[in-house]
Amino acid sequence: MERLVIVESGGDEWIRVELRDVPVAIANGIRRMILREVPTMAVEEVLIIENSSAMPNEILAHRISLIPFVSDMDNYNLPEHCSCQSKLGCEKCVVRYVLRAEAGDAPITVYSRDMTPENPETTVKPVSGNIPITMLAPGQRIELELYVRLGQGKKHTKWQAGIATLYEEDGKNLLYIESFGFLPAKRMLKEAVNILRRKVDDMISECEVLFADAKEAS
Ligand SMILES: [Zn+2]
Repeated sequence: MERLVIVESGGDEWIRVELRDVPVAIANGIRRMILREVPTMAVEEVLIIENSSAMPNEILAHRISLIPFVSDMDNYNLPEHCSCQSKLGCEKCVVRYVLRAEAGDAPITVYSRDMTPENPETTVKPVSGNIPITMLAPGQRIELELYVRLGQGKKHTKWQAGIATLYEEDGKNLLYIESFGFLPAKRMLKEAVNILRRKVDDMISECEVLFADAKEAS
C-alpha cells in the first residue's frame, strides 16, 4: 500500500498529500525536515564595492539575501560539506552574481532581474525578476558582488524551502506543502523523506556501535 498519496496538486507550487498508515511522529518529522533541512539557494555574502543610494549597506544586503533562487541541489554542495573547505568557495558550492545599477537623469528602481550571473548559462537564478531591491536617485550608483550558496532553514529562514502543514480532514491525515519557488513542492517532499531516512540510518549505526561497546564491556 502506498503511504504517501498526492491527492491534489498546484503544479510545482503546492501539493496536498494523504498520509496512509504513517505515524503522526514520522509525518511531523517530514514536516520539520521541509522547514529546517531541505537545502535551497540564496545570497549568503554580499561584497559592496559602491553604494551611494539612500539605503544603508546592511539593509541593502539583507533585502538581497531574502530573494529566493531557483535551486540546484544536484550540482552544488552545502559549503560545510564541500571538499574545497574554502571561505571563498569553489564552482561546486558558490554561484557568483554582480549587481550594477546607476540612475541617469531620472530616478530608477533596481530589480532582481538586474543581477547578472558570472556564468550566463547558470540555472540558478532569482525565482522572479520583478522583486524590487532599492531605488536610486539621479546620479546614485550601486555595485555589488553576490555569492549565492546552498543553505538550510535551520541556519537562516531565508533558506526555508516553503511551508508545510499537517492537518486532519474527513478522518484523513493530510500534509500540505507549498514552495517558495526554490524547488518544486514534490521535490521538497522527496528530499525531506530522504533526509529523515538518513538521520534514522545514522542513528541505527550509532546504536549498533553503542551495543557492540556494551557487549565488549560486559
Ligand atoms: Zn566548494
